Amino acid sequence: MTRSDSFCCNYCFNPKRDRFHAFIRQNGFESTDVCPYCKRTDGIKIDTAVLGTFIKQGIDRAYDEPGESSDNLSVFEILNDRVILFEWENHREHDLTSELFRDICDVDKKSFKVKLESEGDDEEQYRIWRNFEHDCKYFNRFFDLTPRGAGKTNRRTDMLAKLYDTCIKNLKEEIEPGTELFRARVIDSKLKRGRDYNLDEVSIGPADKSNSQSGRMNPEGISYFYVAEDEATALKEGRLRANERVLIGRFKTIRELTVIDWTKANIYEKAVDIFSPKYSPKMAVYQDFLRRFAIEVGKPNETEKTIEYVATQLVAEYVRGYGYDGIKYDSAVGNGYDVVFFYGPEITPESGDFNVLPKYTDIAELTDVREYKIKIEYFLEP
Ligand SMILES: [Zn+2]
Repeated sequence: MTRSDSFCCNYCFNPKRDRFHAFIRQNGFESTDVCPYCKRTDGIKIDTAVLGTFIKQGIDRAYDEPGESSDNLSVFEILNDRVILFEWENHREHDLTSELFRDICDVDKKSFKVKLESEGDDEEQYRIWRNFEHDCKYFNRFFDLTPRGAGKTNRRTDMLAKLYDTCIKNLKEEIEPGTELFRARVIDSKLKRGRDYNLDEVSIGPADKSNSQSGRMNPEGISYFYVAEDEATALKEGRLRANERVLIGRFKTIRELTVIDWTKANIYEKAVDIFSPKYSPKMAVYQDFLRRFAIEVGKPNETEKTIEYVATQLVAEYVRGYGYDGIKYDSAVGNGYDVVFFYGPEITPESGDFNVLPKYTDIAELTDVREYKIKIEYFLEP
């Protein structure tokens, strides 16, 4: 490629877009001129018309152009919000988009719509997580009990089955015996050690069913064993305030455990790269579902918003149905990961006749439990 009068450079763009940068390397040119968009001199320059044509091919792979409508997306929205194409320090991303598409189209016209896999697909399928979440919360919470009449398939179970076969089962991981995991419990100020709690398994293990509140993965009454990779992550889940007391338990797993490792869900990113010839509209829909589930379960619990958890609880229930021991996921507040194991508290003898969750002591042993008081110091800087 030769010099051109309108150019930008590789540093204008998100460095994680590998295939996009490969195109710049193959089609760009050397020059020490200042890039008009990021002001750097040392980047590989590329003609904006050449790059714009390449970007448009990527958009055409993933989007149809049915015409202008407020529900549709503009080129700028696709590149900036969906593809996250620009380097975050590049504040001239809109000007650059206009220049890249100067001879192609108006970058603010909302005329693009995500392509679906086939003609038969539900029109709204690209909003699959939102639909799923809405149906679970406000339409039909207990989908397993819904009879399937002739021609009436259960959309959510069918969708979860496809999602499981295509992606979720590939996230399987073994947790080795001897793995250390941590759990924190905030102690209510009214409680007294020796009377209401102790430094023991009962006090730091999962709550018994009468005290079990709903969580991101468990409905009220079904108490799962939530643990974190390290103490700091376990503490951050607890949203502690000054002078509160907290118990921290250290556990060690005692047998091999099979989980779905949701932290690996980004292995499908390639299939959603619009600049890759391997782009798949179906995988893009699934990847979006995996990503939103990961965001939802990573958030700390807020007891007043239990309806927010119904969708994630149902996905967890679905995974549990395949016989996995739990789900591993990234904590949104801590740096480590969390694991929810589908195991409950020690069973009391009188409930022995009913179906109960296997007890957490089948999979882990408590090796240490300590009590701490939270001190928060304030530093005032004049
Ligand atoms: Zn640049």
